Amino acid sequence: MTLRFQNDFSLKALNTLGFDAVAERFVRLHSVDEIRELRSEVLQSNSPLLFIGGGSNLVLGSKVHGIVAQLAMTGYQVEALDEARVRVTVGGGENWHELVCRSLEQGIYGLENLALIPGSVGAAPVQNIGAYGVEVKDRLEAVEVYDWKEDRVYWLSNASCEFTYRDSRFKREGGRYLIIRVRFLLSRLPQTVTTYAPLRALLSESEREKPEAVFNAVCSIRREKLPDPAELGNAGSFFKNPVVSPEVHQRMKEAYPSLVSFPDRGGFKLAAGWLIDQLGWKGRQMGDVAVHENQALVLVNRGGGDRNQLELLAKAISQDVLDTYGVELEPEPRFYP
Ligand code: FAD
Ligand code: NAP
Repeated sequence: MTLRFQNDFSLKALNTLGFDAVAERFVRLHSVDEIRELRSEVLQSNSPLLFIGGGSNLVLGSKVHGIVAQLAMTGYQVEALDEARVRVTVGGGENWHELVCRSLEQGIYGLENLALIPGSVGAAPVQNIGAYGVEVKDRLEAVEVYDWKEDRVYWLSNASCEFTYRDSRFKREGGRYLIIRVRFLLSRLPQTVTTYAPLRALLSESEREKPEAVFNAVCSIRREKLPDPAELGNAGSFFKNPVVSPEVHQRMKEAYPSLVSFPDRGGFKLAAGWLIDQLGWKGRQMGDVAVHENQALVLVNRGGGDRNQLELLAKAISQDVLDTYGVELEPEPRFYP
């Protein structure tokens, strides 16, 4: 038995909301052998199991029964496919932002729009992380998984991951796959994406071609706009941007001419932050949780907040949006348990 379980382990530093959550048992996984050992233990003890990365997309209850396991498998390998294309294979336990910085420093481009997203490399495909017009699926070749159900390690191609907007088969089939490595297809040639207006506004025409400049602009906007979880607990955007049909969009645009929306998936994606902001939620507090002053899509823990309070606030916001616009909001983070 090589696994080292820690009992009554505080997850306060392992969830960016900073909730006071305690795991009954906590363990770090360094190899596939250890994963297999954990599987035997889970089957034997019939324990619930949660995989955790950086806890930046999780809303935890105060007592987390069973086992919480964090992947600690690291590694970074670069393989040149030709003069331009580079395959980069990264351990799921690596930090996402450090990967973005490291690849950029080596003149390997493609991840710059995804700078400063908290969390681990292994969790990035789970919700197909995206920002400023780039999603991880646009840069990903395959993921290596441990299939919990079949006790097998194998690679899944990009297509097999069934990525959609902030979603994937990993999110839908929660708990079946532990992502242990991710393989990216990046480039030595700049492939910048600067379609988002705030990003364009910060960059001159020549800078728009330079991945380093795009990286710096993304970091600068995010630092200004988003609360740093180290200072103010949050889980990033709390709701997904809803998509409505062209007919519904037309009616809403007539009623609310300043509605922020973008053509997407055969309909229109509405900026959830705009819908919430219009209803006056920015800065409003319920108990110890609140809507951030600068960004209506971000819910924050002012200290002492918990899952129940956050759920109440999120429900009040969703209900208000539904009553006013007839649009349903879906939370982005996972609630556990
Ligand atoms: P966790 O929160 O620990 O886990 C998330 C889910 O993934 C859980 O269901 C967990 O069980 C599962 N999981 C974790 N690791 C693995 C693994 N190795 N294999 C299988 N399943 C696993 N998201 C965006 O898309 N775009 C953004 O721009 C963005 N900005 C953010 C800004 C802030 C300030 C914050 C707090 C969050 C932001 N997020 C954003 C959300 C979050 O950072 C991402 O979803 C991130 O990928 C979560 O990584 P994590 O390691 O913290 O995952
Ligand atoms: P923003 O730039 O103020 O834009 C508001 C919304 O409009 C965003 O949600 C974005 O959708 C959409 N949008 C803006 N320009 C667009 C374009 N040219 N084409 C299509 N959609 C467009 O957003 P923000 O809140 O400051 O966030 C900036 C980026 O970082 C966004 O991509 C956002 O998703 C990402 N982010 C995500 C999280 C998270 O936790 N998920 C947290 C912080 C930031 P999209 O969200 O679909 O891109």
